[in-house]
Parts: sequence; C-alpha cells; structure tokens
Amino acid sequence: MSDKIALERRYGATNYSPLPVVLSRGEGVWLWDDQGRRYLDMLSAYSAVSFGYGHPRLLAALNAQAARLAVTSRAFYSDRLPPFLAKICEVTGMDRALPMSTGAEGVETAIKCTRKWAYTVKKVPANRAKIIVCNGNFHGRTSTIVGFSSEEQYREGFGPYADGFVSIPFGDTAALEKAITPETAAFLVEPIQGEAGIIVPPEGYLTEALRICRKHNVLMVVDEVQTGLGRTGKVLAIHHEGIKPDAIILGKALGGGLIPVSAFAAREEVMGVFRPGDHGSTFGGNALGAAVGLESLNVLLDEKLAERAATMGAYLFKRLKAISSPMVKDVRGKGLLIGLEIDTARASAREFVETLLRHGVLSKDTHGTVARFAPPLIIDREQVDWAVERIREALGEYGPVYEKAA
Ligand SMILES: *Cc1c(COP(=O)(O)O)cnc(C)c1O
Repeated sequence: MSDKIALERRYGATNYSPLPVVLSRGEGVWLWDDQGRRYLDMLSAYSAVSFGYGHPRLLAALNAQAARLAVTSRAFYSDRLPPFLAKICEVTGMDRALPMSTGAEGVETAIKCTRKWAYTVKKVPANRAKIIVCNGNFHGRTSTIVGFSSEEQYREGFGPYADGFVSIPFGDTAALEKAITPETAAFLVEPIQGEAGIIVPPEGYLTEALRICRKHNVLMVVDEVQTGLGRTGKVLAIHHEGIKPDAIILGKALGGGLIPVSAFAAREEVMGVFRPGDHGSTFGGNALGAAVGLESLNVLLDEKLAERAATMGAYLFKRLKAISSPMVKDVRGKGLLIGLEIDTARASAREFVETLLRHGVLSKDTHGTVARFAPPLIIDREQVDWAVERIREALGEYGPVYEKAA
C-alpha cells in the first residue's frame, strides 16, 4: 500500500472510502497520480471541476484576487461582490442572490428563507411551516438536511432529526399536490437526482410542479448545485423546460474547481424576508470567492460550455448506448451527467469503478449500482472516444463486449 494511503488511514477519519489512487496533479480533463500515471477524470469532483483542472482564466482570477484582497467578512462592502451578485441574477433570472461557500449552506439558506417567507408573507402559524422534499434526494450533509434524506446511512446515528419536512416520490406531481397543505412553505427539488443514481424525471415534471406550487401559494426551490452551470447541456437544468421557479441554489462548479463558492438566488418577494442580522457566514461572499465565482460564470458563457456539454454529452451517450455488454443494464442522463447502471450480479459498482481505474478512467459508484460519468465540460470528441475505449476494456473483464448495429 502507498505510504500516503497508509498515513491517511492512520490519521484521517474513516467517513470516506476513496478509490486506491493518490492524485498529485491535474490539467484539463487529465489527472496524474504520484507515480506519474495519467487518468481521464470522468467525475470532475462531482461537478465541482466542470471547467477542468488549471483553467488559465480561473487561475489568473484566483491568483490576482488572492494577492489583492481575499477575506474581509461582510462587515464591509467589497469591490468584488456586487458584480458577482449581479451576474448570478443575470444567469439565474432571479432578483437577488445570497452567497455562501458550500452547497449544504446554500440549501440551509433556502430552508431558512422559505420558512421565514411562510411566516411573514403566507402567514403560516409560528413553527408550523413544512417543506416538501423528494425520496432519493441529496441536498448535503448537515444535521438538518440528513434528517430528510431517505438514504438510511446518511441519517442513521445522527438523530434527533429536524421537524417540518415531508417526503414524496420524485417525478410524481400528483403526490406533490396531495402533500400540499396550508402550512406548506416550499417544494425543494433537484432537476435530476444525481446521488440517487442519475434519475431523470418524466418530461415536463418541473413545469407541472411549478404550476401546482403557484396554484397553492407554495415556493418552488430548485437545487442546481450539481445539475447547474452547463452540466446537463443547458446553463441551468431548468432551462430544458424554460421555467422560472422562486429560488435556485448553485454550488460546486461556481467555485471554478478552485475554492468553495455557493449561492442562493431568489425572487424579490422571497429574499425580501431577510433583515440585517438574520443570516450570514464569515466566508460567504468573500472577495476571493466572488472574483473566482464571477470568472467561472464568464468562462461558462464565453466558452459556450453548456452547448459543448450538450454535444459531447449526446455523443458520449450514443457511444455508451451502442455498447452491448452483459454488465450494462441501463444508460441514462442528460448532457454530461450520465449514469451507467451495471448488473450487480456480476460485480458491484464499486468493483467496476476500481476496474475502470486500472484502465485509466476515474469514476465513482453511486448507490452501489451506477457508475457516474460526468467529465469536465471542456472534454473533446477524441477524449470521449478514448474514455469509451477504456470503458469497453473494463466491461470486457466481465463478459463479451460488442458494438450494437447502429
Ligand atoms: C453536492 C450537492 C449538495 C451539497 O453540496 P456541498 O458543497 O457538498 O455541501 C447539495 N445539493 C446537491 C444536489 C448536490 O449535488
């Protein structure tokens, strides 16, 4: 065993079980381990590295801002935050934005904001507000958020759980309408459930959910932490349906793969409930994060990375679909967020991603049954072809692999 792995296992907490590779350098879509071996990254740090490693514009923004001014807290204005806020609003179509650092903090902000809206605007009786969530959701790891997870391991041992959440099946608008009561503050939903195994809801789901929310005076909050910023082939996944919800949470790629930056963006009426002192975070909205976040959004738009994710995603999808292997049960997803469901009678998804690792492709299993393919959006056709060849080799270890007739 590598001495680095041994050292981490000796001194680290065991809340992760990393694949046995020690990474030491990255460039574009490629990563190198400490032995100098090269891998194609098909995980992108769960979409945090959507723009690839060492993007020159992002590095320049980070370095220039770090040298100039990084953290001052929000006790003062900075010259970096205002243009970042304006850009978030332009990209999301929302009226105001509240910056945080991690995705979970963005979700916590959404919970606090929609509850306060319920009490002050909708006039729900004190401490009765409910938020509807979906089975299979993933919104982060705080004690409140794991309390409404349906994943037993995320919850077990971390109770007592916060009150006020109701869970319904994902993709089911009838269940949504049925779950709404006069105490419902908000419906919190992912456009595609990433951690649940790349679950794509029925066509028109978000549009119908928004119609139901409007009808009952319930806020719709869309968690785009993973699906946002080009990942699914549009700047936001909600753009596939052209809807404008009441609030949107961004994270992961917003930090350009360099530092944690997240944001909660909302309509005027919703964000308007916050008064000075109601909510905050020492690092949220710091000048360094704002500079990198703004440049991330500019890179996304200037380099047309959403369009690129649409083309490259469709191509990767087509090539994976063409593989005939007894290991492959399903290929699903949108843009460059693709899940390969494998036959766990032959191997666990974990075992399969370890095989992929040996063939030079980095991926991660989700839900024990799915290998996730979400490379940096800058991937080109040749690199997709390279990855598909390695995936075919890995699948070949478990049974014959053929190309299906086109
Ligand atoms: C990753 C993720 C989060 C949590 O983000 P952190 O930065 O890990 O706290 C929230 N929602 C979704 C959909 C995510 O994929």
